[in-house]
Amino acid sequence: ANTIRLDKLLGHTGWGTRKEIKELCRSGAVAVNGISCRDSSRKVQPGRDAVTVKGRAVSYEEFYYLMLYKPEGVLSATEDPRAQTVIDLLPQQFSGAGLFPVGRLDKDTTGLLLLTNDGQWAHRITSPKKHVPKVYIARVAGCIPEDIGERFAAGLVLDDGLVCLPAKAVRSGEQELTITVQEGKFHQVKRMCAAVGLTVEALYRMRIGKVILDRALTPGAWRPLTETEREAVF
Ligand code: URA
Repeated sequence: ANTIRLDKLLGHTGWGTRKEIKELCRSGAVAVNGISCRDSSRKVQPGRDAVTVKGRAVSYEEFYYLMLYKPEGVLSATEDPRAQTVIDLLPQQFSGAGLFPVGRLDKDTTGLLLLTNDGQWAHRITSPKKHVPKVYIARVAGCIPEDIGERFAAGLVLDDGLVCLPAKAVRSGEQELTITVQEGKFHQVKRMCAAVGLTVEALYRMRIGKVILDRALTPGAWRPLTETEREAVF
């Protein structure tokens, strides 16, 4: 069966560093199936063994899958000495879980960001080989060319010579484009727009694969993905 060390389980659920957890166990605060456990290296079975700290049940999941409405001004990173990161927007309960953003959004880009601690799942979304579509709404300055759809579909060439995979651009407002890309190069959408003479003034990501940003979420808010969403990303 699937076992995990007690200190790993407790670290994952935010009970501190391995050393702190060792102390916590030594102090007699931790129990497994109702019996005090002073050995933090003991193996337990998540979902089978009941773990408590100071009498409170520890609920444990190995992997987390969240969607976050990334607000403007927050970095898509796990840590930064100065700026607020997307991880800082999550509650304390996740502090030991090793969550990271799946791909990046620029500091000024808003919208759907997925967060997980499941590296394989994340890789399936970000790998360029998988072609998972990402849909953005861009507010642009400049004159939108008539043939923008064809130019995005043909594979744009960026300023540094990078040739983009075929993408979609549809005019969805006076100065607004709905853009679908299947890769995630640095500043990709902004640079694609620049390649057709447009400046992106605001960028919002609404969808990754079949997962759409929940309209009930406000900027900075998050919720777990449903099981269907978790499987529908690819
Ligand atoms: N493309 C960009 O230029 N920026 C983002 O944040 C995402 C896609």
